[in-house]
Amino acid sequence: THATTREHASRDLETFPPPMASSRVAVIGAGAAGLVAARELRREGHSPVVFERAAGVGGTWRYDDAASADPLGAGGVHGSLYASLRTNLPRESMGFLDFPFVADEGSVDPRRFPGHQEVLRYLEAFARRFDLLGLVRLETEVVSVRRRVDGAGAGVAGWTVSYCSRKLAGGELQEEEQSEVFDAVVVCNGHFAEPRLAEIAGIDGWPGKQLHSHSYRVPDQFHGQVVVVIGYHPSGMDISRDIAGVAKEVHVAIRSAPCGMQSTTAHANLWLHPMIECAEEDGSVVFQDGSRVKADSVVHCTGYKYRFPFLEEDGMVSVDDNRVGPLYKHVFPPQMAPHISFIGLPFKSILFPVFRLQSNWVAGALSGRIELPSPEEMMLDVMAFYSDMEARGWPKRFTHNLGVEAWTFEYEDWLAEQCGLDKMEEWRRVIYVAARARVSVRLESYRDEWDDDQLLAQAHNDLSKYL
Ligand code: FAD
Repeated sequence: THATTREHASRDLETFPPPMASSRVAVIGAGAAGLVAARELRREGHSPVVFERAAGVGGTWRYDDAASADPLGAGGVHGSLYASLRTNLPRESMGFLDFPFVADEGSVDPRRFPGHQEVLRYLEAFARRFDLLGLVRLETEVVSVRRRVDGAGAGVAGWTVSYCSRKLAGGELQEEEQSEVFDAVVVCNGHFAEPRLAEIAGIDGWPGKQLHSHSYRVPDQFHGQVVVVIGYHPSGMDISRDIAGVAKEVHVAIRSAPCGMQSTTAHANLWLHPMIECAEEDGSVVFQDGSRVKADSVVHCTGYKYRFPFLEEDGMVSVDDNRVGPLYKHVFPPQMAPHISFIGLPFKSILFPVFRLQSNWVAGALSGRIELPSPEEMMLDVMAFYSDMEARGWPKRFTHNLGVEAWTFEYEDWLAEQCGLDKMEEWRRVIYVAARARVSVRLESYRDEWDDDQLLAQAHNDLSKYL
């Protein structure tokens, strides 16, 4: 395997310091990824410091009533949750292995697909249980990460992390910028905060209102309106239904819609269409099959962009059509591994357990427990991956999509092997895949009806040893 390659020994030690049993590591972000990274780093003997610009831990799961003032932009708001959001996978699959996400006496929502408040409660409990809160510096935003070159100019001697902390002093908000040096940096800043918009011909002259799902919280503003929702991934599915409860009509533009309008059964005022052809000055939105509606609003449920503003000027990685690269197995820039790493980039998988595996891999690579291939080998692997994607006709934006073709869990198994950890449990995979499949056939009820009681019993039996 890559992990046993001899090439590693020949790495230029002048350029890259050797692994250290204990490194001082800056972790950027205290969402699910940053929290589990801090845990794994400390378990390995490192000293993590977690920088978090929000006032608490939990990342995306901290529901924020206040949306961006710019309905199509990030507007400095991190959260993208809407008030009615419930998880889109069952809790027993979603949680970290040894800290089960099960309903208990502290639960605020014991359902199997709970509301967002329950996930935040779980992540906060995870942070308390593993004593991580003392590692987190809240209201502290990392503004730049720069390589430090040693005196001779030959090698990397750590990273200068500059950050801005906000404090209330004498009733006034004060900001202070400081810098510190770290041996390594782990980037866990999340990727559901920077809206991606659909390009629509004629939209500039179209008189209606537009909103991205990043800024959607509640449906009230759509009362009695005709609304076009673009995109039918989990957010588009939920938000179109939320809005259909108050709007006159909801028309969803969806890549895979059959030709012609088609109403769904549970909502008589909700229609599916192919993608949008153009928008017109008289308020019409025209779909690719020629159908048209006069709409008051368009809601873009079209996803998000990866963004690393604190790295931008340094050229370590670039983002091209949502491909963050070059990165070996979504984690390490080959030339700088393991000194800087990215946790949490993949999507369409069972994310918390993936974050845990990635974190263990990073922690082990930093200490020298896990050997990485040479930078050249890692780069070759990245290039082979890109060529393979191209040959299959997959766009760059699918780079970090782990469920692009089928849920094989190949990546997750590979990571577990590198780390010397058990593979993700079989029940977790089967429950997850079945839940995803139910979404398309039982969209209205998949969160409240299921037929996998046997698997569920197996999961609870397995998890009970950690409770
Ligand atoms: P985040 O949770 O986004 O955390 C990143 C943290 O970094 C934030 O706290 C942010 O404030 C901080 N940060 C960013 N930049 C800086 C900086 N410069 N300095 C300091 N701090 C910084 N996943 C599931 O498993 N199940 C679901 O049902 C599910 N539903 C979802 C629904 C929605 C609407 C969205 C948007 C996502 C959903 N996800 C779901 C995916 C979710 O993003 C992951 O579960 C997970 O929470 C991501 O964790 P993260 O730590 O990578 O990122």
